[in-house]
Amino acid sequence: MLCMKCGANADKGYTTDVTDLGNCLVIVRNVPCYKCAECNEVIYTADVVKKLENIVQQAKKLMQEIAIIDYEKAA
Ligand SMILES: [Zn+2]
Repeated sequence: MLCMKCGANADKGYTTDVTDLGNCLVIVRNVPCYKCAECNEVIYTADVVKKLENIVQQAKKLMQEIAIIDYEKAA
């Protein structure tokens, strides 16, 4: 996978995704991604983007101020 920002090689890894919904902060840990070795740009595959959207939607319903979710354990 090549970095969309600088074109350098991006390696497979894991990251923590943070979504700020204003009244709620959703933190998803252990998100599989590709990370650029040059500029640290994080790239998600389409599947991961979809799953992250689902996780954020579910967290929204919980109405917690801070939701910390493990990607691997999320449905
Ligand atoms: Zn890059």
